[in-house]
Amino acid sequence: MADPNQSEQKPADGDLSDAELLELFAGHGVYRDNAAQYRGRLDGQLLINRCADCARYHQPPRPMCPNCWSFDVVPTPVSGRGTIHLLMYLHAGPPADGVDYHNGGHPVVVVELEEQEHLRVTGTVHEFGPNEPSIGDAVELDFLDRGGAPIVAFRPSHPTELNHPTKPDQPSLQEHRSQD
Ligand SMILES: [Zn+2]
Repeated sequence: MADPNQSEQKPADGDLSDAELLELFAGHGVYRDNAAQYRGRLDGQLLINRCADCARYHQPPRPMCPNCWSFDVVPTPVSGRGTIHLLMYLHAGPPADGVDYHNGGHPVVVVELEEQEHLRVTGTVHEFGPNEPSIGDAVELDFLDRGGAPIVAFRPSHPTELNHPTKPDQPSLQEHRSQD
């Protein structure tokens, strides 16, 4: 029989209570209007509020569409692909796991998502190797774990044009063949 003391059931995996969500993302500034976005991270999704009436995305999340003033906004998964719009390096700040303010600073980027012009999210970047990230670089979403909480990060995307035979600055295979 069900124990009345257990009527407050523990939420299923990936479905934290509000209190657990706040605890997990302590210091991230979780509040009512952005809680869904943080929950999405736990499912590996980048959620952006999208208006069900005019289809426009907006960021940061608000309860009302800034375009048409509709309150019918829906946290919607996006691809996480985009280009670096802004790049900066933090040389000081609060201590955080995996953040090194020395050795060139901690990179922070604002990425313009491919879903909509001027739709931008902030995060960090990694996996650039010896190449410095720069404005205009194509990137894709790659959450990083920081103290058990997923944070928004981007890595270089691997564009299919690497295999494209007609890249402008390289002689194409066809040109070589035509000389045979
Ligand atoms: Zn709208």
